Amino acid sequence: MLITKEMSVKWNKNNKKRFIELGHTFTNYDDKFMVNVEDLSIHAPYLVEVTCDYCQDIGIHTVVSKQWCNYLKERRNVQKDTCNICKYKKYKDVLAFKQKSNILTKEDKGYWTFKENRLKALDEFIKINGTISKMDNYQDGCSLYSTILKFKETPYELSLELGYNINEIMDIKPNGYYNDFNIFKNDIEKLISKYGRFPTSIEIKQNLTIDYKYIQKFGGMYGLKRKMNYDGSNDLIDNNNFYNNSTYELFSANFLIFNNVPYLRERKPFKDENYRSDFMLSIIKENGELQELHVEVWGYEDHNNKSMFGESYMKVREIKEALYKKNHVDYISIEPSVFLHKKYSQIQESLYNIFKPYLNLEFKHIEQEKFLSFKSLSDEELMIEVLKYSNNNEYLPYALYLRTENHSLYQEVLKRFKNYTEFAEKFGKLTLVKSNGYWDKEKIFNIFEHMLSKYNKILNRNEINKLKYTDILIDDISHIISSLNRKDKYGGIFELKIEFFYNCHQNNIVIPKSEIKWLINISKNVTRRGNKLVSYEYSEFAKLILEKYNDNDIKDSIIDSESELEITIFNSFNHMISKYGHILSINEYHEFKKTDSDLNVNIYKRITRSSRDINTYKLMYFQHCVDDNKLIPNQEIEWLFEVSCGRSRNQYKPTPEHQLLAKQILDKYNNNLQLSAK
Ligand SMILES: [Zn+2]
Repeated sequence: MLITKEMSVKWNKNNKKRFIELGHTFTNYDDKFMVNVEDLSIHAPYLVEVTCDYCQDIGIHTVVSKQWCNYLKERRNVQKDTCNICKYKKYKDVLAFKQKSNILTKEDKGYWTFKENRLKALDEFIKINGTISKMDNYQDGCSLYSTILKFKETPYELSLELGYNINEIMDIKPNGYYNDFNIFKNDIEKLISKYGRFPTSIEIKQNLTIDYKYIQKFGGMYGLKRKMNYDGSNDLIDNNNFYNNSTYELFSANFLIFNNVPYLRERKPFKDENYRSDFMLSIIKENGELQELHVEVWGYEDHNNKSMFGESYMKVREIKEALYKKNHVDYISIEPSVFLHKKYSQIQESLYNIFKPYLNLEFKHIEQEKFLSFKSLSDEELMIEVLKYSNNNEYLPYALYLRTENHSLYQEVLKRFKNYTEFAEKFGKLTLVKSNGYWDKEKIFNIFEHMLSKYNKILNRNEINKLKYTDILIDDISHIISSLNRKDKYGGIFELKIEFFYNCHQNNIVIPKSEIKWLINISKNVTRRGNKLVSYEYSEFAKLILEKYNDNDIKDSIIDSESELEITIFNSFNHMISKYGHILSINEYHEFKKTDSDLNVNIYKRITRSSRDINTYKLMYFQHCVDDNKLIPNQEIEWLFEVSCGRSRNQYKPTPEHQLLAKQILDKYNNNLQLSAK
């Protein structure tokens, strides 16, 4: 707060006019007279006394003196005075004021301290690039990324706050996203209703954008289904139409049914306890008396028995066994080993041996259909089911793949046949099984050659994954490619590609233009892998390969990719103008893209990666329009006009070159109009 109310000043040439106008009477130069502080010129350097308002707030009276001009300057945004110590408090107030009045810019210190600014920048980034994966690979993403981290936030958290669907904007789920099984389960349930069945591991990976390790973490596909209590079939209904808890129970039931052994289900062996047995038989003892005999089909034990399920199951088993002993109740134990990994014929034999001492049985082979249940598959139907996991009707899917995708189907094959190959042979099918040492560089390179001739490029992992259901050779390599990494004996796909191109170079195989461009970037050392530039040694390698191509070829391939982009962009602009009457802003673009499939080429993303910005492309486009004597919509004429005047809009400040170009376009356009009017 200003303390000084009046002060004495001397008449001089500069202040004479001003103070006479304010009603003072002039005496002589250098004469002193008193004036109101408020009447001083805003440039006056006189010292005034003020109290610090911030000290005042905490009950301290601090007086400091300041030059009048500085006093005024400091109060420009926030009308509070401060001593030296409290300056930082004022700084905060000023920032808040500027932020509130929308005058804080990215270049200002303190801009990023506001979360809303960080959110806004990330929102813009996502709208342009459509992703928050590998942000530091983008020109404007790198600094934003480190800014966000500086404030102990992650792009992932912020984009959730912005309401983005993580599945759409991240290639891979952030670490820990699915640590909570319920979240994972929830997402899987959505997929179940989407597909009307349990999704395959590939569908899970693609839809939830997760790494396969998550599925493994939750016990693989088989474990996952169990964990989710997913009951996808009526397999467990026995021939008496009773729903069994497990296949073990089902087999036991069908065995007893087939052998005409009467039984009761779910009886209580112990009066005061709530436990139930799986079967209760009535057998005739040697003395002719009837005796109740319970049957316990002990459930599947988890491999390591460490899971919650296994532990609690074993506890129940212990309690039940103790009760049988204590109450002197007779029972038959059927162990999981009777069933686990056994062929149906073996299971039948084991069951026969178990029941034979109690029942007067003769061994009879039970037909497979009856043993499983009347609803189960014939071998032919089983083959049809298995082939659903293959992209080619002549080949069975990889055994490993089938085992992951549908464990019980795979088990079913092994229960009926000696092995997977025998199953294939019975129906004249082939197997894709490649033994461990199958893949070598030569075989991989053969497939690369196939890619070059069929797709004119080396496909990346995503492309391979998309194509693998349509191209058997691609399917073949997809497994090895997806498991390749830099530490492998082959090196990663990047190393393989370079080496392959080197082979092409040696064997005079022509490398397509798009791949030459890839090599050029490596030779110039501008290619990034993750967040690092590729090493010097690779850029030298690329240079060597490129030696065979003359400058024109190289220039061609660069121009090609630039002009190809230009054509794509111009086509897209044409479409926007004919459908929407103007070139869409990024926000509009993302909005309309949802319903307009013609907008699917993400030109904004591609522009960001190119050497030019959107406004340059717009100007180039309008240049073409006037050259072709095409009409430009009014809204765009206005835009051109603003650019030609150098007016900024939406954070775009036209460069002198842009101004000039816009002016030329408008002139030409007017010229065209006048000509056509004549
Ligand atoms: Zn203070």
